[in-house]
Amino acid sequence: MTSTATDRTFLYNANVLTLDPGDALATGLLIEDGRVAQVVHDGDVISGGDRMIDLEGATILPGFIDPHCHPLALGAAMASIDCSPATVSSVAEIGERIARAAADTPSGWIRARGHDELLLAEKRHPNAVDLDVAAPGRLIRLSHGSGHGDVLSSAAMSALGINRTTVVPPGGTIECDSVTGEPTGVLFEMGGWIRDRLPKPSEIDLQRYAKAASDQLVGAGVTSVTDAGRDNSADKLALYSGLTTDGRFMPRPTVMLSPEACRTGVENTRCVRIGATKIAITFSGGEMHPEFDALVETIRTEHHANRQVAIHAVELEAVIMATEAFAIVGSRIENLALRHRLEHASECPPEVARNIADAGLSVVTQPGFIHERGDRYLIAQRSGGSKTEDLYAAKNLIDAGVHVAASSDAPVGPASPLIAIQAAVTRNASGGGSVGPSQAISVGQALRMYGPNAAWMNHLEAEIGTIEPGKRADLVVLQNNPHGVDPQQIGSIPVLATLIGGKTVSGTLPGN
Ligand SMILES: [Zn+2]
Repeated sequence: MTSTATDRTFLYNANVLTLDPGDALATGLLIEDGRVAQVVHDGDVISGGDRMIDLEGATILPGFIDPHCHPLALGAAMASIDCSPATVSSVAEIGERIARAAADTPSGWIRARGHDELLLAEKRHPNAVDLDVAAPGRLIRLSHGSGHGDVLSSAAMSALGINRTTVVPPGGTIECDSVTGEPTGVLFEMGGWIRDRLPKPSEIDLQRYAKAASDQLVGAGVTSVTDAGRDNSADKLALYSGLTTDGRFMPRPTVMLSPEACRTGVENTRCVRIGATKIAITFSGGEMHPEFDALVETIRTEHHANRQVAIHAVELEAVIMATEAFAIVGSRIENLALRHRLEHASECPPEVARNIADAGLSVVTQPGFIHERGDRYLIAQRSGGSKTEDLYAAKNLIDAGVHVAASSDAPVGPASPLIAIQAAVTRNASGGGSVGPSQAISVGQALRMYGPNAAWMNHLEAEIGTIEPGKRADLVVLQNNPHGVDPQQIGSIPVLATLIGGKTVSGTLPGN
């Protein structure tokens, strides 16, 4: 083939869910030079592509768009000791896993992650004493499954300079023993602080993490992904640029940036888009960080520079504060035009959802948390915590007229969109519990949250998110139609192949 020849592939005998505005179904499609050239129905005459592929009844959807993920952390998590509730059920078991890892790697840091204190038999966080007993004298960091807490061994605390006199960064907490006043090893909202003091991962490590994350994401059908890191700077853009150009990172990347990085005037690169400016609202010791006035000012600066803002808001109070701050800065129409977003809006009763709609804000929700943490939420609800009907309340938001997209937040939640879609439809936790079932949405609504809604959230709806002529041929091929299986099985539907720009980047097409 010469460089001027067009590259045409005709996929037929398929079940095509276009997710276009009319939700049209089709039986095939023609891909030309990486884009959808034609959506085909039975009986349409096709003048023959260069390649004809019989999909044997498989289902084709627009490639999944994950608008809030942490790919490098996902890759790093895949390389660390899994202490998630699916794997361990007690502090003692965490100790055993760490002891084994210490025996395998005689020096250097030991990284473990994923514990959830409410789902451990002891119903408490592990602490430095537990880690020291498991692997005496070793540098150990165990990160909480939420991504908002850490436990350090005594050696790790001294290496990082944590003692009773350490100045705690804004928003962070160093837990201290009520009797001795000494740090227990348990820290909250100190991830960035710890990262700044750890040896930076080597270039080779970062490339390894990116490759592992890329494989996992495209294997799950993800064709576009947003790195939603709150500390992202120009370095991150350069890293993704390099990784994407030479094919080590396959999904099309968008990178959110910190407000500081935005002010340095960075620009899109050929393969990497700059996404929203990311701000996180956290609560520590009852104090909100940043303070409300500072939040409003940061939003105002970005808003007047015509930049989209994404605010991490989990607790009800954070969701209310973020909504008020946006409403002070911009009108409903202006906020909608810039597509300002709330990331998570985890706790969201109907009246708050209506305020979000009135302020012209959009929400990126994480149904995968219902699957992975639903059992924790049920336990918390029984002891007076948030009502599960208000958590990741997709139905409240959709009913209020809010644009809602879904994302993984991996490695905090599961990377697989199908697992999240299953949870959005069933509202069942992996342990079987029913988690606020009134918030269940339809299969069609859940698919759209990973398709056109996510594309819109990233200002990319002209390029991706549906299967329509002219759009990029970013596709996921599933063995079964999610509309046709038991909803409890959606997460287990095999992903046969993932195509980006018409090229198969994972799996194989049937009949090929
Ligand atoms: Zn996140």
